[in-house]
Amino acid sequence: MTMKRILLKLSGEALAGEKKTGFDEETVRKVALQVKELVDDGIQVGIVIGGGNFWRGRSSENIDRTKADQIGMLATIMNCIYVSEIFRSVGMMTNILTPFECGSFTKLFSKDRANKYFAKGMVVFFAGGTGHPYFSTDTGVVLRAIEVEADVILLAKAIDGVYNADPAKDPTAKKYDEVSIDEVIAKNLQVVDMTASILARDNKMPMWVFGLNEENSIVNTLKGKFNG
Ligand code: UDP
Repeated sequence: MTMKRILLKLSGEALAGEKKTGFDEETVRKVALQVKELVDDGIQVGIVIGGGNFWRGRSSENIDRTKADQIGMLATIMNCIYVSEIFRSVGMMTNILTPFECGSFTKLFSKDRANKYFAKGMVVFFAGGTGHPYFSTDTGVVLRAIEVEADVILLAKAIDGVYNADPAKDPTAKKYDEVSIDEVIAKNLQVVDMTASILARDNKMPMWVFGLNEENSIVNTLKGKFNG
């Protein structure tokens, strides 16, 4: 099946490379060059980025959860502004959409607006998650993928796929070639969080999980060399 529109989810940590916090430009540039290859092939690409390289809503016990999550959502916007600029520096056109007004920094999300940008060949960044506390960017990417009718979600992870146990702790852990979201939920495999899992299952949104650190993995995933 040829993919016309995909949503790529990157964790915040993925942007930081070895540094673990902030940005590693070389890491982001590698992602940018791969996405450019897809865009040049006519694939419409949307991007969702986490915030873990700056902040997680669970980072502090002394801050109200809603406020902590607001900081987290703002972190995802900073990430999108940064990555969007690196994408532009390698020759792509981009736009950033958020579920709430951020002045001139971003534009307000709507399906029509996203479709308009996709049609122009722009990479569309869906920043700010769902716009609500108690959610995650995992849920954000599934929600946006459903809304904009993406063909598939690409989950680029630190780990190279879905295993039946944590391979860092269990040497007998086996990688799945394919697994139903029902099984992910039943066995609590934590590919994405529970809210995101159920939303994906109920709306039949497929997810391809693979390792971001493998050479050219984003392009390979879409060109029949999926190794997740
Ligand atoms: N967040 C939120 N609502 C959303 C998406 C994100 O409140 O719809 C906040 C939440 O605090 C979360 C943080 O933003 O911890 C960063 O997002 P996420 O944890 O998904 O990033 P990751 O851990 O994948 O880097």
